[in-house]
Amino acid sequence: MNENSVSSTDKREEYKVLSVWPPQKCYHCDRLTGVVHIDPAFVPNFQPKCALHGLARCPFLDETVEEREAELESVRRYVLWMHADTGRVVLVAPLEHPEEIPGYEGLLGYEEDEEDECDETAWHTRYEHPSGERIDSWVVWSNDDLQLYLYENGAMVEQRQIEQVV
Ligand SMILES: [Zn+2]
Repeated sequence: MNENSVSSTDKREEYKVLSVWPPQKCYHCDRLTGVVHIDPAFVPNFQPKCALHGLARCPFLDETVEEREAELESVRRYVLWMHADTGRVVLVAPLEHPEEIPGYEGLLGYEEDEEDECDETAWHTRYEHPSGERIDSWVVWSNDDLQLYLYENGAMVEQRQIEQVV
């Protein structure tokens, strides 16, 4: 299985986001998903990820264009999923300071380790309803919870739209 020694450069190229069929159970919950993240650094290295748990995050600082695109795509997938997979996302951009998000209170209220800036990562996105109306929305990834959070209209969105309709 292991041809020769694998340099770290080769290793990073093995980080991939794949579409699979049939859908698999998410590594973190019971949802089925067609998206799988593959990374030799993961145990196991094949992890199906639903929209909520599926941030495609390259663990390397010098991420490639494809890896960066995969990350933005996974944020886009999450925003759409939160809107019952309707409409579209017209913008996704990394946000340096999550505290700029309207309504953001910090997910865990951690104070002691403020210098640990890598705990949460954020993006500014713009979502377009099927009606054409556009709203700003913000996405936060929590490294502690290993999931994404959505903020809109100055507050955290607690539930998927489709699940609110029950
Ligand atoms: Zn999941």
